[in-house]
Amino acid sequence: MLLRKLETYGFKSFADKLNIEFGQGITAIVGPNGSGKSNITDAIRWVLGEQNIRNLRGAKSEDIIFSGSTSRRALGVAEVSLTLDNAEGLLPLDFREVIITRRIFRSGDSEYYINKTQCRLKDIHQLLADTGLGRDSMTVISQNKIDEVLNSKPDERRLIFEEAAGITRYKNRKKDALRK
Ligand code: ATP
Ligand code: MG
Repeated sequence: MLLRKLETYGFKSFADKLNIEFGQGITAIVGPNGSGKSNITDAIRWVLGEQNIRNLRGAKSEDIIFSGSTSRRALGVAEVSLTLDNAEGLLPLDFREVIITRRIFRSGDSEYYINKTQCRLKDIHQLLADTGLGRDSMTVISQNKIDEVLNSKPDERRLIFEEAAGITRYKNRKKDALRK
């Protein structure tokens, strides 16, 4: 599956609209220390449903929202949209492109959208489960993740294999069904 486009507004250090179109092949982002390269991968992680703020290098959910600078006031909302190419139909939706949007307000309220239709976070998790793109996936591998995988206990490592093998979705559904 290919990433087509990433659009952000008010996300971390990006007060203005940021629009990155991914071309064919590999995209590399270069820039000086502190210029926001890792914030771009944080945006991808977040829109894909990451709930653990520490994985986004923050302490509280507000840390996602542009907090102001000497010349600009803080913003009240952060928004990220990621456009995925679904020409191969990997996502179970009848669209060639799927846009996932996540928005958070300083009040703490969140909104989620799939192709501009409002949905729950759970719908995004379900959509992405077993595609290799969901949270806890190997889509974004941070510097410390490799050590973590190597040092994990057998049951923790099993979860990584289950996600990769594509059975997490069924395990989640079974858990839901048993609860009802
Ligand atoms: P390095 O090369 O050191 O890894 P980087 O390009 O990956 O740097 P980032 O870690 O993405 O840089 O960006 C860090 C910058 O983002 C810091 O200057 C930090 O102050 C800024 N930043 C993070 N969160 C916010 C926020 N909520 N509002 C404003 N700025 C923020
Ligand atoms: Mg970095």
